[in-house]
Amino acid sequence: GKKESISLHNLMDNVLLLQHKFLKSRNLEIKRNYRATHDEIYAVPDQISQVLLNLTINAADATPQAGGTITVTTENRDEEILLSIKDMGTGIDPAIRDNIFEPFFSTKHAEDGTGLGLSISYGIVNQHQGTLSFESEPGKGTVFTLTLPRTD
Ligand code: ADP
Ligand code: MG
Repeated sequence: GKKESISLHNLMDNVLLLQHKFLKSRNLEIKRNYRATHDEIYAVPDQISQVLLNLTINAADATPQAGGTITVTTENRDEEILLSIKDMGTGIDPAIRDNIFEPFFSTKHAEDGTGLGLSISYGIVNQHQGTLSFESEPGKGTVFTLTLPRTD
């Protein structure tokens, strides 16, 4: 794929639209809190969509069957756009904090996860001069934050 100027909000909206049935089947409510006024990035659209998709599915997988809310927030900071995906799920055990970006590391059953999502996402974000980080509290939830340079 080739890099082009695109709206990060549009990419996120498309991912949520494509995942609508899946998210609904998991009793998940999606809250969109798009605060960024400048959301244009120079990026390979399919690659950034893959990152957003993986973060969304991870958030859904972490949430108990009873359901919960996934909140997508964006904001501008300096020349960057931040996008965070917050869940109210299991959280990440401090014992595995340092492992989750490793290829093939997964706590899921083989049919549900390959453990490649975060490692691939990390590589993609790096290729786009961005960052990918998280904060998590076991039993309360997790927030993954993606930052990317903006071009508008
Ligand atoms: P996979 O989803 O295939 O397991 P990932 O690389 O996407 O692989 O994630 C690796 C691991 O990181 C997951 O198996 C899970 O243990 C942990 N993880 C990722 N996102 C979350 C989240 N939002 N909440 C709790 N754990 C998470
Ligand atoms: Mg995953």
